[in-house]
Amino acid sequence: MTLRFEKVTKRVTLMDPFDAFKQKVQTIEYRRDPLLGRWSRVNMDRVKRTKTLETSRADPELLSRVEESRDACYFCPDNLENSTPRFPPDLVEKGRIRVGEAVVFPNLFPFGENHAICVLSSEHSLNPADITAQMWSDAVSACIRFFEAVHRRDPDQRYPTINLNLMPPSGASILHPHLQVLMESRPSTMLEAVLGASERYFAEGGSNFWRDLMEKERDLGERYLGDVPPFGWICPWAPIGNNEVMGISLDTATCVTDLSDAQIRGLSEGLEQVLSGLQRVRAAQSLNFILFSAGTGGDVREYFRLHARVVSRPNLAKYYVGDRGFMEVLQLETVIHSLPEALATDLRATCPRFFSS
Ligand SMILES: [Zn+2]
Repeated sequence: MTLRFEKVTKRVTLMDPFDAFKQKVQTIEYRRDPLLGRWSRVNMDRVKRTKTLETSRADPELLSRVEESRDACYFCPDNLENSTPRFPPDLVEKGRIRVGEAVVFPNLFPFGENHAICVLSSEHSLNPADITAQMWSDAVSACIRFFEAVHRRDPDQRYPTINLNLMPPSGASILHPHLQVLMESRPSTMLEAVLGASERYFAEGGSNFWRDLMEKERDLGERYLGDVPPFGWICPWAPIGNNEVMGISLDTATCVTDLSDAQIRGLSEGLEQVLSGLQRVRAAQSLNFILFSAGTGGDVREYFRLHARVVSRPNLAKYYVGDRGFMEVLQLETVIHSLPEALATDLRATCPRFFSS
């Protein structure tokens, strides 16, 4: 099986009302995800407006309300101790897991059997660029302790995910920056599809999709950002969301629990670069992040690699337009407003760590 960046280009003709109804042609590019076969689409003329669309700042008045929510915030240091749940002692003896400023405790309204929250910092309000490598590193270490405790108690619980909704447009109901952390007995729908497709790719061609992907992106250079070992970073060919960046393990890590302290540090430095870069070049203030892990205890090194995805979401504004319309929600096909190649060029120019690698 060969890894291919497949695209289909179509032209649309229309008579332009803003130019005396002269005939105009627009180009639509359909891009196929090389692993899942999923399609993303982009109007190549529309993305030329990307700068206008993507750099609209968040509303200052709404941002000031973020500050005002501090006093009533359960996740701020003054309230956290008395207002957040504790784990039962048979799972976590001290009730909560603390590493640096990161604190892991149960989600008060879980949607998973083992669903925790990891508060990233004692700071109530953080922009993407304010989340430091140290915060990421402490948080990932704390999450790993949670995963290990759950797995020790019940070995069937073996699929860990670390997720972030930052700011309300991304799905965050509490403004204080926090990770959503789950350890599950089965993979999510998306992870199951990715694991299955990666296994088929290996069965058909005898090579690892993720290694092939990184090799190809590095050779092409168009969407490659750089390596911050042990992860390589790219803007994917057929994004699931706008301004998407992926980090892929360059060694054999398939699960977050495989990572050593030094490897966690490398992942964290990459994330700091990516989030601060997205804020600089696309004014991103709201975003989603996920770390996709295969299950603990299984050997899937032949065909899978631990990987992260980051996508930007609309900024906080009174009448913002959502970026999940009928195509994304009901057709599971993304309309992209930002070209991966343009994002990669802008990020490379602004992230010295990527630039120098
Ligand atoms: Zn807070």
